[in-house]
Amino acid sequence: MKKRQTNKEQKAVILLSGGMDSATTLAVAGAEGFECHALTIDYGQRARAELKAARRTAAARKVKRHVVLKVDLRAFGGSALTDNIEVPSAEESSGIPATYVPARNTVLLSLALSWAEALGAYDVFIGVNAIDYSGYPDCRPEFVMEFEKLANVATREGVSGRKFRIHAPLLRLTKSEIVRLGVSLGVDYALTLSCYNPKLDGRPCGRCASCALREKGFSEAGTDDPLTKRK
Ligand code: ZN
Repeated sequence: MKKRQTNKEQKAVILLSGGMDSATTLAVAGAEGFECHALTIDYGQRARAELKAARRTAAARKVKRHVVLKVDLRAFGGSALTDNIEVPSAEESSGIPATYVPARNTVLLSLALSWAEALGAYDVFIGVNAIDYSGYPDCRPEFVMEFEKLANVATREGVSGRKFRIHAPLLRLTKSEIVRLGVSLGVDYALTLSCYNPKLDGRPCGRCASCALREKGFSEAGTDDPLTKRK
């Protein structure tokens, strides 16, 4: 992807979870010429190693600034990622699985929007995907579209003329297309972690739905996953 000079020196806020999708999204924002400000929300997720992965990725991509903000959603619970509920295996996951975190992407995008407005950034990136995904309602195109509308009625900047854009560059890509895009942009997937329930040493469990999607992506792209290849 060529740098679009039009975005030069324009700031963007990128939600960075530590997983492969947000790492790819960060690389897309960089390739489009944005000055990248990465935001990681420590919402009390079970996978603490995810936060380390986010720090590694932010450092590797040389973002302008990386903020890790603590908003502990364990106070509410209601998800296998934030509560004492077992993470289902890929086979057990059906419908909207137990790993859904109530209104998570609304919470995350709201915080990213707040930082963006404070920074003078009009572009917010999120790595949601509605093809190879777990069926979470807040990963769908209609959610992204409606949040963008909200951003432009909810903010001083939005009502005074400059429009916010919510970018979801992976929205309609398959997992293997995401892998290929990331590889072409130099994403080091060895730094990322997608697992919902990693082992104590931070390695992926290999049986949750997120591990399964990641494995499918790499195998369909015909590329080894550097994370699981690592000894
Ligand atoms: Zn896993």
